[in-house]
Amino acid sequence: MDLYSGHINKLIEELAALPGIGSKSAQRLAFHLMNMPGDKVNRLAQTIIEAKENVRYCRECFTLTDREVCPVCANAKRNHHLIMVVENSRDLAAYEKTGKYEGVYHVLHGAISPMLGIGPNDIKLKELMSRLGEDVEEVIIATNSSLEGETTAMYISKLIKPTGIKVTRIASGVPVGGDLEYIDEVTLLRALEGRVEI
Ligand code: ZN
Repeated sequence: MDLYSGHINKLIEELAALPGIGSKSAQRLAFHLMNMPGDKVNRLAQTIIEAKENVRYCRECFTLTDREVCPVCANAKRNHHLIMVVENSRDLAAYEKTGKYEGVYHVLHGAISPMLGIGPNDIKLKELMSRLGEDVEEVIIATNSSLEGETTAMYISKLIKPTGIKVTRIASGVPVGGDLEYIDEVTLLRALEGRVEI
């Protein structure tokens, strides 16, 4: 269906490929962009390009950052013996917003999902294992309570157990399938405080 020009169609297609944007939203965004002043569109495009060029993984925890080592990992006041494993940088941000967690993080960038063909090698799991030296006292697994999150938690716990390092899982009570970033701070803290050894 060639209702629009080829350029508009291409733009709609690209926008619709983004997560959470259906074809209706993609159309709305495309027309909004075309009605914006040229300099604003340029600024937006430039911001995307610059972010992509300058954002990288933290050398330690693999969260997205502008620096070689992210501010959390670089902070000597944080407890570097305590590592919380999260699925993505948004989950890290959710815990950081509570201001109550004193340890550091490890960002997996995904979760194991046999259904989607995502295996242990597709997430930052090897990188986690290579961080687990003698000075690590506890690994808190804070993956989502979705099927993928639980599968990942079990997999990680089995990997770490033989090292003798304490492995804990945040308490359930976090809604099933709920993305951590949408959960309020009180619930997050309760889940963290109620963590149990697995
Ligand atoms: Zn870091």
